[in-house]
Amino acid sequence: MSRFVRRITHTRLPWWLAALLGAGLQAGALLPFWGSADVLPGLPVALGVLVAVAAAAVGGPLAGLLAAAIGWAIFFGFLAGREPEAIPALAPWIAAAVLAGVIADAFRRHRRERADLAGELGAVAAAASEAIVRLAPDGTVVGWNGAAEALYGHRAEDVLGAPATLLADGERSGELLALLGRAADAEATIETVHLAKDGRKLVVRAGAGPIRDDAGSVVGLSLVVADVGEAVESRERAREAEARQRALVERLPLATYAHAPGDRGALLRMSPQIEDLLGYSAEEWASEPELFARLLHPEDRDRVLAEVAASADGLRPLRSEYRMVSRAGEVVWLRDEATAVRDAAGRVTYVQGYLLDVSERVRAREEHERVLAAAAAARTEAGGKQRKLDFLAEAGEVLAASLDYETTLRRVADLAVRDLADWCMVDVLEDDSVLKRLAVTHAEPLRGASNGRPGREPEAAVAAVVHSGQPKLASPDRGGDDGRLGELEADSWLSVPLVARGRTLGAVTLVAAGSGRSYGPDDLALARDLARRAALALDNARLYREVEERADAARVLAYVGDGVFLLDRSGVIRLWNPAAELITGLPASSVVGHAAVEAMPGWQGLVERIPVASSREPGHAETIPLDTGKGERWISISGVEFFGGTVYAFRDVTEERRLDELKAEFVATASHELRTPLAAVYGAAQTLRRHDFVLDEAGRDRFLSLIVEESERLSRIVNEILLANQLDADRLDVSREPFDAGDLVERVVDSVRTHMPPGLSVEIVTPPVLPLVGADRDRARQVLQNLLENAMKYSPDGGRIEIGLEAREGAVAFSVSDEGLGIPADHHDRIFEKFYRLDPGMTRGVGGTGLGLYICSELVDRMDGRIWVESAEGKGSSFFFELPTAEPELVRTAAGTGADEPADEAPPQ
Ligand code: ADP
Repeated sequence: MSRFVRRITHTRLPWWLAALLGAGLQAGALLPFWGSADVLPGLPVALGVLVAVAAAAVGGPLAGLLAAAIGWAIFFGFLAGREPEAIPALAPWIAAAVLAGVIADAFRRHRRERADLAGELGAVAAAASEAIVRLAPDGTVVGWNGAAEALYGHRAEDVLGAPATLLADGERSGELLALLGRAADAEATIETVHLAKDGRKLVVRAGAGPIRDDAGSVVGLSLVVADVGEAVESRERAREAEARQRALVERLPLATYAHAPGDRGALLRMSPQIEDLLGYSAEEWASEPELFARLLHPEDRDRVLAEVAASADGLRPLRSEYRMVSRAGEVVWLRDEATAVRDAAGRVTYVQGYLLDVSERVRAREEHERVLAAAAAARTEAGGKQRKLDFLAEAGEVLAASLDYETTLRRVADLAVRDLADWCMVDVLEDDSVLKRLAVTHAEPLRGASNGRPGREPEAAVAAVVHSGQPKLASPDRGGDDGRLGELEADSWLSVPLVARGRTLGAVTLVAAGSGRSYGPDDLALARDLARRAALALDNARLYREVEERADAARVLAYVGDGVFLLDRSGVIRLWNPAAELITGLPASSVVGHAAVEAMPGWQGLVERIPVASSREPGHAETIPLDTGKGERWISISGVEFFGGTVYAFRDVTEERRLDELKAEFVATASHELRTPLAAVYGAAQTLRRHDFVLDEAGRDRFLSLIVEESERLSRIVNEILLANQLDADRLDVSREPFDAGDLVERVVDSVRTHMPPGLSVEIVTPPVLPLVGADRDRARQVLQNLLENAMKYSPDGGRIEIGLEAREGAVAFSVSDEGLGIPADHHDRIFEKFYRLDPGMTRGVGGTGLGLYICSELVDRMDGRIWVESAEGKGSSFFFELPTAEPELVRTAAGTGADEPADEAPPQ
């Protein structure tokens, strides 16, 4: 029946079509009973009602009504014969049809709704982002949507028919079972952990509810599962963020407020943070409308009140920064921003704003600005400093360029007037402590020429600076002294001393006159720096000069022949020059740094005798003996005292002294030598003149020959003295001629033999052939005669004298050997000195002048020969001298021929 009904009601025909069909069917069903209606009077009515009901079922109540009406009309007209009793049949007829129509429509609507619902559910399940799992009452999966597949990873065909516990995480499957158990009665939701196909754990929210049929009995369960893993996380994050934000807001130096439009004083709300900002509680703000204006910083009050008044109605937003004074009296910078809050109609309901403490930021900004300003100032200052540094660097270069400090200081003055001054003066203390103006320079072009010029001499003010060593800054417009500087009408000037090694060497003066400059402490510092460098350069140059001079002095001391040494105030030897070393035999290394009394033997006794002059004027020198390693030396010494000690200078006068002694001795000997023959001559002459006593002839002859002999002796002595004099004065000419040495020897021996004392014999030993000598024959004879006479003179006991000749390489050697007194070896050199004579004790009182050998050696020397002695005391002496042979070499043969012929053969050696 229900199926029939469902089918009947399945389709819905338009009401008119159903009515038409119903009318047709009524006719078809009723008309056959026409005439036989009386047999079965109820059947046609039942059919008619049935048709009307059918029409109503497919076409709705209206169609049923029409079909019933038509069926009744046919019944009434044809079958009931329009009997009035048939009229009541119309009511059930229509009632049944309309009822059927209403019921059919209701059925249809219900079915349609069910269909819509199912479709809707299907669509929801398909489109849902949550997994929707339908379960049979026994818990097996019967429905599996796309989201479930996406969530769990199981495909529908894999899970359909499987138990729901498949979805749960093993350990927590109980939770799912419990949920499903509860869900049979009512919907329930849990958060639990499920398991995906690949083993991932899923944090899910699972909701389950019963599925009921129309009768309300549970036909299954629906399980809706959503992955809340991310949601949980983001919820967690949101919670944290919110907490942070809350903490932040609570800590923010920010207070919010709201006031009625148009009146800032009419506070609707003020957040409690205001107390942290300004020290006045929200309640105080609420109760005291004037508080805002009162707390405003006086400098900001008018401005801010005007701004607030202009925007209090909320039509224009307020945006301001200003200062307020807190309860503690601190100035707090606030940012105030406010806007209107409007209702739905756009009317301003209230004005809402916030106050933010921006003190830190304002301070930071102010600090930043201050730093920027400071940086700019520093840049400016650095620029100035750089210029000064450049100036100093340039000045330094100029100063270091040369040791000629006069030029360099002038150039520095030029630099100064280029960069710093209208006039620059450099004054320097000279050696004699007189301050001299070294440089005066002026700027080009010179401004303020009417102010006068600096003088040629340092002004008193500058001299005072040099004197005190203190710089001076005269800057009238800065409250300094009068700007006048000597003749110069300065606007401002400064003078700094040139100080090096603690000594003031002068001053640098900078003058501003006409350029409008005014000097301050900065300029003074710069000038001092300049002066320091200049002083250093000046000092260096002077030191260098001094060192140079000292080096010269040291060189002089090194090469001077006089010994020089210096004793400091404590008597320690500080300087000992090479000549001092030479004369004393004491090396500098053993005396310098030592006390003189220790280093110089006998100094203590000598020092008192040495005259010391206290000034630089030369004092007289004293000749004193000095014990040296080389024996006693006589030195002529004097000293000069100076602030550092005493300088002694001395010369070795041992030789001069000896010569003087010899001279003195010579005078004595010569007088004696002269007096003796003179006395003899005088005596003889007197005797001859005597008349009281008659001399016989023999006696007269004896006296006369005595006179002749002694006169010869006299003249010989006088000749010797004259000849020595001539030699000394280098006024003796020596000729050169070839002569025969043998011949010369024979002649000399002949002349001597005449007065040869008894006991003496002379022998000549000559080789047969000898080269001719090339020399002055007379001088050679004089030498030979001297030697021969000495040999005779110093052989008081007689003996043999041998004169020998020998040909040597390019020379002929003469020798005179005696067997007399001999000469000690240490006198061999000295006997050839002028006046030198052996001690009379050694010569048994033999007289002489000490000139003979001197003359011999001088003559031989002038004839390009040489002379020497070989002797030992008591063993006789052998004197030798060599004279060059004549050129070309001539020989004398034994036969005495060919004297003037060149030699035929080499001379025998
Ligand atoms: P003098 O007039 O004293 O002889 P000389 O110059 O001739 O002066 O001699 C210098 C010294 O040399 C002599 O005083 C003497 O002591 C020494 N002398 C010179 N010749 C001899 C000699 N042949 N034998 C020893 N002594 C000699």
